[in-house]
Amino acid sequence: MLALLNNELIKMEYNNKIMLMDSKSDIIYYTDKNKTYRRTLMNDIIEIKIHNNIRKIRYLNENEKINIVNDFYNNVRKLSEKYDFLNENIKNYDYLYKRSTDLIKIYNEKIPIVPPDQYFSLYIRISYGCPWNKCTFCNLYKKENYNIINFSSLKEQVNNLKLYFGDSIKSRKGIFLGDANAINIKNDILIKYIKYINDNFNLPLYAFSDAFTTPFNDNDFDLLKKYNMKRIYIGVESGSKEILKILNKKMDLGIAIKFINNIKKHNINVGLIFMSGFGNYNHVNDTINFIKNINLGRGDIVYISPIKEYSGFNKIIMENNIDNSIEIKNNQFMELREGISELYNIPAVLYDVNESLY
Ligand code: SF4
Repeated sequence: MLALLNNELIKMEYNNKIMLMDSKSDIIYYTDKNKTYRRTLMNDIIEIKIHNNIRKIRYLNENEKINIVNDFYNNVRKLSEKYDFLNENIKNYDYLYKRSTDLIKIYNEKIPIVPPDQYFSLYIRISYGCPWNKCTFCNLYKKENYNIINFSSLKEQVNNLKLYFGDSIKSRKGIFLGDANAINIKNDILIKYIKYINDNFNLPLYAFSDAFTTPFNDNDFDLLKKYNMKRIYIGVESGSKEILKILNKKMDLGIAIKFINNIKKHNINVGLIFMSGFGNYNHVNDTINFIKNINLGRGDIVYISPIKEYSGFNKIIMENNIDNSIEIKNNQFMELREGISELYNIPAVLYDVNESLY
């Protein structure tokens, strides 16, 4: 039996169950036997288990969510008999549901995706959607018109987030700037926004970027660094020109290399995202050859994301004779990981887009 409050996070152990919530009672993780449940701030609960060395994930339905949440808070109740401070953390499913709807109202809608190491950052939307929004494999921002929020909306959002999180904001270790391409904003506006965010939170900043529209912007990476930009995540997807064409990612690989190395030159880390699952194509070799041209090092990370099928993209996969079977996805994942570890001493890990919810 154990309950520890540290930096507004409450870690608990009860009957071999491991539980984590923040001081606002928002459930974060719950591990029971061989299953772990991660609750997102948008109130999805994802069941994660390893079966025959394969990681399997599943979204719980509404009834299952209620059962898990009840189970979690029942354990908190039992622990509160020994740890008085937990009394105020005994909540129920309705409480969590309301928390998530209040947060969605602040952002205007659910946050579609974050990188896997950014689940515990504070998401701040400085732009909506994606300025390109035409990659054949991506349906994340289809409902969205690309837009940059105005300064007064940013101030209102920051204020609302502070009220929403209260002291539990101290459990957030960074700021993720949304949405898909937050640094693709006119330089003076971007600097004004991140300076304001930095003045309010003084936490490291993270953001996605593409490598085919943003390189032509006038990004001042010295100033981004000065105002706490820590890592920029770039979806490269493949080092193969042929595959990029199929994906409708209008990226010149040479320009992408220069852009990424330029970010690195300013001591800002990168997170590079590549896909796996392009059987019948020279994806692995071309991607490793691409990565060889980047000066990766400490603080950088490579993510490998298995192709996620959806109806529009399935047609493209079939038309181009892409073998995206599970075996190919897994094999290419392993081959890319091994190839990267031969080149650099940095993590090369899974990015499962089904799991990467805020
Ligand atoms: S650039 Fe990124 S967010 Fe935009 S459509 Fe392509 S994959 Fe999606």
